[in-house]
Amino acid sequence: MKTRKVSIIGAGNVGASLGQRLIEKDFVDVVLVDIVEGLPQGKALDILQSGPIIGFSHRISGTNKFADTAESDIVVITSGIARKPGMTREDLLRINSGIVSTVSKEVSFFSPNSTIIVVANPVDAMTWVAHQASGFSRNRTIGLSGVLDSARLASFIALELSVSPSSVSCPVLGEHGANMVVFPRFAKINGKPITELLSKEKVEELTQRAINGGAEIVGLLKTSSAFYAPSAATARMVEAILADTKEELPCATVLLGEYGIENTVIGVPVRLGKGGIQEIINLELTPTELKTLQQSAESVRRQILSIPTV
Ligand code: NAD
Repeated sequence: MKTRKVSIIGAGNVGASLGQRLIEKDFVDVVLVDIVEGLPQGKALDILQSGPIIGFSHRISGTNKFADTAESDIVVITSGIARKPGMTREDLLRINSGIVSTVSKEVSFFSPNSTIIVVANPVDAMTWVAHQASGFSRNRTIGLSGVLDSARLASFIALELSVSPSSVSCPVLGEHGANMVVFPRFAKINGKPITELLSKEKVEELTQRAINGGAEIVGLLKTSSAFYAPSAATARMVEAILADTKEELPCATVLLGEYGIENTVIGVPVRLGKGGIQEIINLELTPTELKTLQQSAESVRRQILSIPTV
């Protein structure tokens, strides 16, 4: 069987950390790509030299040439800049949509049968850009949002209740950012709703901490943003697709009428497996919950409309 290949565009913090996580699982070859000369090559070589110690035999390489990504099964797009002081959200949207659009066109040329996972922010709008620029079906253009946001909330709940993080399930939906959506009734520990275990105020406090999860880390690190949990979340999505696990994970997804939301991207639960998104899960929401989700989508829709044509 042909060795499967995952290319990671952007060999910065998230990209290189993801490369390390994937190669240590020893089930795919990994290619790191960056525009900075020497950066992807140096990081890949360093990771490769850990092989005899960790015990993996797949290959990781670094390159500045997109052609080296040819015939990838999955391409992860982490290339994008972070917002700098003095830069507006519109500036960020314009710069990153330019990068994601260019990269997505290269992906569709060199790996026409691949699945794209977008990480670059603002991830919902960037997933839309990747979908438009690559021409790939929505099943094959997916963004990282809910897997990370849910993990953040689950770790805070687990800390609060001194339970194993893996016993907590709490899908976080909607836009990745200030408008993310948590419906506490869906949050459970071993199947028991957290609303029976924690006060309403405590649930609200933990939810707010998860919403500010990225900003809390930027505040501590000062010069960079989170990458350990983001790379772990992305690796989980890669594995779900390549191992065809068909697990239900909340992902940034192009919606075409589901939840009454059209031509925009937000996080909703999907079944991930071979070929990307196999099914969009239709949660039974109350009218108030549905409205909250639609308002979150409205915020992404405004961003999408402000992006220059891709
Ligand atoms: P980083 O600055 O460490 O890395 C980005 C890398 O992309 C840099 O090495 C840069 O040289 C490279 N790059 C820029 N343009 C490129 C191009 N055209 N082709 C190839 N490489 C290019 O940043 P990071 O911490 O790794 O974060 C990357 C992106 O992911 C940011 O936009 C960040 O906001 C986002 N992010 C999203 C989530 C999420 O949940 N969706 C989580 C964490 C980070």
